[in-house]
Amino acid sequence: MTTAEWKPTACNLCYANCGILARMDEETGRVIEKIKGDRAHPVSRGYLCNKASRINYYQNNRDRLNTPLRKRDDGTFEPVSWETAIREVAAGFADIRDRHGGDKIFYYGGGGQGNHLGGTHALALRSALGIRYRSNALAQEKTGLAWMNSRMLGGSWHGDFHGCDVAIIVGKNPWQSNGMQRARVLMRDIGKHPERTLIVLDPRVTETAELADIHLPVRPGTDVWCIMAILGYLAQHDMLDLEWIRERTAGHERILDQLQAVPVTDYAEFAGLSLALVERAAQAIGSTRKIALYEDLGVEMAPYSTLCSYLNILLFTLTGAFDTEGGMHLVNRLAQILDEDVRAPNVDGNGHEIGRRVTPVTGARIVTGLTPCNSISEEILSDHPDRFRAMLVESANPIHSLADAKRLREAFEALEFVVVIDVAMTETAELADYVLPASSQYEKFEATFFPSEFPDNFFHLRRPLTEPLPGTMEEAEIHALLIEALGVFEPGELDGLKEAAERGLDEFAQAILPAMAQPKISRHISYVLYRTLGPTLPYGAAAAAPLWGLCQRHVMSNAAAVRAAGHEGEGTALGNALFQAILENESGVTVSSNQIGDHTQWRMPDRRIHLGIGEMNDEIDTLADYRLPERSEEFPLLLCAGERRSYTANTIIRDPRWMKSNNPTSLSANPDDARKYGLTEAGRARLVTRRGEAIVLVELDDRIPAGTVSLPNGLGTHYPDANDARKQTGVYLNELTDLEDRDPWVGTPYHKHVRARLEAIA
Ligand code: SF4
Repeated sequence: MTTAEWKPTACNLCYANCGILARMDEETGRVIEKIKGDRAHPVSRGYLCNKASRINYYQNNRDRLNTPLRKRDDGTFEPVSWETAIREVAAGFADIRDRHGGDKIFYYGGGGQGNHLGGTHALALRSALGIRYRSNALAQEKTGLAWMNSRMLGGSWHGDFHGCDVAIIVGKNPWQSNGMQRARVLMRDIGKHPERTLIVLDPRVTETAELADIHLPVRPGTDVWCIMAILGYLAQHDMLDLEWIRERTAGHERILDQLQAVPVTDYAEFAGLSLALVERAAQAIGSTRKIALYEDLGVEMAPYSTLCSYLNILLFTLTGAFDTEGGMHLVNRLAQILDEDVRAPNVDGNGHEIGRRVTPVTGARIVTGLTPCNSISEEILSDHPDRFRAMLVESANPIHSLADAKRLREAFEALEFVVVIDVAMTETAELADYVLPASSQYEKFEATFFPSEFPDNFFHLRRPLTEPLPGTMEEAEIHALLIEALGVFEPGELDGLKEAAERGLDEFAQAILPAMAQPKISRHISYVLYRTLGPTLPYGAAAAAPLWGLCQRHVMSNAAAVRAAGHEGEGTALGNALFQAILENESGVTVSSNQIGDHTQWRMPDRRIHLGIGEMNDEIDTLADYRLPERSEEFPLLLCAGERRSYTANTIIRDPRWMKSNNPTSLSANPDDARKYGLTEAGRARLVTRRGEAIVLVELDDRIPAGTVSLPNGLGTHYPDANDARKQTGVYLNELTDLEDRDPWVGTPYHKHVRARLEAIA
């Protein structure tokens, strides 16, 4: 592999996965020396934020694993060969499956911000083991939204921020957390434009709020009262699109009555806002159908999170800003991230859903296939016969990222068998019986399934920048070897498909499609594709083989949009053309160009938007009680546990040297609170919650409202110092959070609303 050239790949530090060009060092070819934006990327088009330049701290660091590890009886690890590890891991899981049933093995993870191919290969292993329950970090953030999407629209949506008149950002600071393409440019452009309006709902004066035309600095936790006040104002001033509502929606009667009854002034006041400000926002929203909205963790990890998602959907549907130019649109993803529940919901006479799948011990609602993260420890720490007894964790660090780390650690210790697949010695890997070292995202073919643009959506299959670190293995191969150790297929059983693959994609399609009628083939399809089609793919892209199946599925329901994006053919030939284009285009490719205004493409069987959601309509009635999880004398402050800052990202960057400017323990507090609690700038304090405490360094910041404090995300990880002692950098937030503080519907935790107190330290 030559080294001194610029190679396309993507930044893996946030959901946007901007296209980047990376240059490796000439000497070893392993160090990412330079990064620049990739103008050929279909969507990011050369955009980067400050974080991408530091990704070598992910690729090369002292925490990388380079041999499989097995736990000794004394709790330390010993290196073992891959052969031994695969044999013993397969035997360990087979033993649990045979004694208790495969549904007692829980699967967690499957990919983070930039690596979803591994999780695709895990599908076959999950089938082989009979695993039924799984989760990942989306189940502590997005499941309330996913539940509402499945009930109201049948899929996820995306706002046309380029063409909108009004952009609404709810509980998010895109300037730091990005999460949308070209976030800073986009926010600045809308904020500066004289005829466009940027509305930001956020208790803090964030960088994005500073750009806003209308900043709604809501009292923490009261977003739903603010949005209800806006919706109430719109309804009471005839600013809803009633004709469109009657034509395109179902079940709107109760919510329209509820909005007529909203005491707008009182709700605005409870949300800490002046009536004039709420009216200004409502008038801007009511003046156009070109509305783009984005909600994120600020409301999704706070009280009333599911209700807030419901109200946000009402903001763009009741105004007719759906499937219209500059408005909101259903997205067509190649993979069904967050859209697994697309089906006609079963509801009773009160509009309450019935028959949803639930977890075996606590009966928690499973949304988009995911067990609520806050239920996992309860599903383990029980004497229920159906409790989880083993866990496979892949490319995820639940012990660090899920609420109440102490409780989850207890749960992990109660499991009979734990295996972690990861690139580094994470806090979760420390608790495993076996740790299997994966090659990094820059050492193998990788991709994310997040892209959700409209009208043009894209996909980026990234090629490796460098060889795998010796001793590591890509997840595709790990899963395949485990399936083979479990003896799922007989030797030679797939030879016919292999031969067909060697004759080309068309012949392969003709062979595999009838073979899919065999449950054994269809249940293990990712493995079958990897071992049959994989070896025939160019550039060594074997791990990308499951994408062939996704492409075929994608064209079945989106053929016109795929053709409009420039791919030619009919049926499987179109799927083949799309797959070829993904393989060939190193900077990513447009996979669909969707039409606006074609409501025959809407996902609900009646092609309408369902506005009556019984559970949410009932909850709206309770808002008149003005109830919040309130602060107390013991815990008078609200901690925002996990604020995005200039040098915070997900925890895949473990080397603390990657941060240029952060003080990792710094806690932002309002100067009024500092006076009240005897704190000083740069002074130390003890932060105490119901579940734990941490020593922090106080940083005074009058942009944060009095009564609230904030700590950065992505810190508190363990990393070896010069003497190989594992040291923690920054605050381990989930030592402070409480399992009990969670959304009543889908269990998402209240990380942005943790009750706390501060004690000054001399
Ligand atoms: S952190 Fe996000 S916005 Fe910044 S360069 Fe990486 S992917 Fe792009």
